[in-house]
Amino acid sequence: MIIFKKAATLHNYLRKAHAGGLSTALVPTMGALHPGHISLIRAAKTANDLCICSIFVNPAQFNDPSDFARYPVTTASDIALLELNGCDILFLPSVEEMYPASFQPREHYDLGELENRLEGAFRPGHFQGVCKVINRLLDIVIPHSFYLGQKDYQQCMVVDRLIGLLGLSGNVQLVIVPTLRESDGLAMSSRNVRLDSEQRKTAVTIFRALSSIRDGLNYQLPRLLIEGATRMLEENGFRVDYVAICRQADLEPVDPGSLAAGPLVALVAAFLGEVRLIDNMLLTGQDAKHL
Ligand code: AMP
Repeated sequence: MIIFKKAATLHNYLRKAHAGGLSTALVPTMGALHPGHISLIRAAKTANDLCICSIFVNPAQFNDPSDFARYPVTTASDIALLELNGCDILFLPSVEEMYPASFQPREHYDLGELENRLEGAFRPGHFQGVCKVINRLLDIVIPHSFYLGQKDYQQCMVVDRLIGLLGLSGNVQLVIVPTLRESDGLAMSSRNVRLDSEQRKTAVTIFRALSSIRDGLNYQLPRLLIEGATRMLEENGFRVDYVAICRQADLEPVDPGSLAAGPLVALVAAFLGEVRLIDNMLLTGQDAKHL
């Protein structure tokens, strides 16, 4: 695996690779890699000539400075894991390298309603920060494919929209990889290492709450399902940001007072102690290809 720290050097290297006919896939991450990330690397590697992983803890997307300060950094073991799993290139830039004065992000990326819903509402500015970093990564790498995890469902939709805003829809293919879970159902996340052993056991309640929504969907009103899932989380010590049942296509919330139908997704964000966890579950259809 080749490690690049300079954007221009990576860009030039990939220009030559593209000219030579090689296909490239980018897997952007913030490091502290776990098997969920690695499932993206493997999927990217299988379908492309070159797999490029980026590790950059992007200050622009943290609305909470203490969350940024405590974000785990495990670069040495990340490098070992990537090498073990056949990643070809690691891009490991500094903040200065990612955001030089010459990089002019848009003042505002028009994300429509995505900006105001769910993560957008609870983490003001978060998706603008995501767009900024991904705009820059797309400029540098110009990949054929871009791999994201369904774990961050709304982020997948934001990036899809960003690719359109940047006029790259025909050039960059977005690939969404299903969420990898621990054996008890907890979605793998870099933030899980911040949970103590009791919290770790409790954290699976998020998966149970989502499953209860899925199981009750055909015969219970969304309002009751959301109330039940919220209660389940609160009784287990969570501070809930949201429990929502939305249309998969645009995250429009369903009518809480009518039985829900169509391709839907349930989404949860909740704090356990200081750690904010998110997860989601498709309620109809087994994959996220529609994204
Ligand atoms: P992060 O490092 O948290 O920014 O995540 C980098 C990428 O890995 C994002 O596209 C995430 O959605 C994806 N990812 C994170 N956790 C998982 C998981 N448990 N399963 C699959 N993909 C994941």
